[in-house]
Amino acid sequence: MEESSPKIKPVDLVNNANYDVIIIGGGINGASIARDAALRGLSVCLLEKNDFGSGSSSKSSKLAHGGLRYLEHLEFRLVQETLRERDTLLKCASKYVTPLKFLYPVYSFSKRPLWKIRLGMWVYSLLTFQSDMPSYSMLSKNTIKKECPTLRQDCLKGGATYYDGQMQDFNLIIANISDAKAHGAHTFENCTVSNFIKDHDKVVGVEVQKDEKSLYIYGQCVVNATGAWSNETAGKDKKLKTPLVAPTKGVHIVVRSLGLDQALILETPQDNRIFFIIPWENKTLIGTTDTAFEGSLDNIVADDADITYLLTASNHYLKDIVLKKEDVIDTFAALRPLQYSEKGASKRSRDFSLVESDSELIHLFGGKYTSYRYMAECTVDHIINKLPFRKEFRKCITAIKPLP
Ligand SMILES: Cc1cc2nc3c(=O)[nH]c(=O)nc-3n(C[C@H](O)[C@H](O)[C@H](O)COP(=O)(O)OP(=O)(O)OC[C@H]3O[C@@H](n4cnc5c(N)ncnc54)[C@H](O)[C@@H]3O)c2cc1C
Repeated sequence: MEESSPKIKPVDLVNNANYDVIIIGGGINGASIARDAALRGLSVCLLEKNDFGSGSSSKSSKLAHGGLRYLEHLEFRLVQETLRERDTLLKCASKYVTPLKFLYPVYSFSKRPLWKIRLGMWVYSLLTFQSDMPSYSMLSKNTIKKECPTLRQDCLKGGATYYDGQMQDFNLIIANISDAKAHGAHTFENCTVSNFIKDHDKVVGVEVQKDEKSLYIYGQCVVNATGAWSNETAGKDKKLKTPLVAPTKGVHIVVRSLGLDQALILETPQDNRIFFIIPWENKTLIGTTDTAFEGSLDNIVADDADITYLLTASNHYLKDIVLKKEDVIDTFAALRPLQYSEKGASKRSRDFSLVESDSELIHLFGGKYTSYRYMAECTVDHIINKLPFRKEFRKCITAIKPLP
């Protein structure tokens, strides 16, 4: 039976209020921690400095996927975990996450030869052997020519077709927040955490700027789920010796429908990176870039070089279509909150980290959108273990409870 959504009374952020957990950041991670914690019976305060979902979480490639390309970096555990979460989303959030067919064509100029794609497909399917998704198949060049006349046909060697998920990234955030609220969480937009309140060097609350006023909110646990802003937020607690995240910039462009009935996974001719051409809301989503980033976290835009890079890569593969700058209907850009490492942009791990500072501030960062539910589960388990009456709180049910 479908759960009816109870009427939720709006609440105000009250000075000196006290919660079990305060979550900073209203992206998918903050939203899903709020939902999980509220479902387990914790009192929750979620604070977002802009609008919910205004950060990276609404500007993703909208793929609930294991990440075929991470197999190249031998990140088998990460891919398996993300595929498991993809399948959980397909079951528990089926309104927002649906299967999407992909075509991976291989050309004589492709960096990754056909045997490598066959091996990759086999490993990907092994890592998701309990999935209800249709299995992959290898395709001859003639089948690809028939199935996808939009693709260039010269130099084609063959390819593969497989399934992953497509998600409504913004709506998923809002659905998590709505369910958190329905279970008692207090959630606030336009509330910036400007400082931490400490007692004996332990974080016991946050100072919030709202409508040019300062409010003081107390919590037994405080979670930093501010994605690309993680270093900045952590820096308000203490000076960081090593950054938590090293964000990279990712840009998408939106063009008219190219008549595709499946997504294309391709290699950029410029640097052999993987990129996607995806049918999306009767249009086509093309992305993404992955470049080092320095500058203001609050002003991320697609520049000319990003747009040219994606248009050149797309035109390399399209038959009888030449996309120009005038064809770009929209662009969006965001930062990947990747774990800090010295490695180059696209080689940094997509795994997540859950760490606690000496002052007991909890940081959740890195990871893929697809894994948000599991990341929230780990975070709330960690929080509950710190609370004095931990046996009173329920177990995590988000892997079986559908998102209303
Ligand atoms: C281009 C691109 C494509 C991607 N594609 C995919 C994909 O297809 N599939 C996938 O699984 N993953 C994808 N990802 C990764 C995924 O989008 C991110 O890992 C995820 O969205 C991060 O979520 P978050 O909640 O940590 O961060 P965010 O969504 O950025 O949320 C952090 C929030 O914290 C708020 N905040 C910051 N400072 C404060 C403060 N002081 N007080 C209050 N609030 C504050 C910000 O305003 C922001 O809303 C992609 C990422 C990018 C950039």
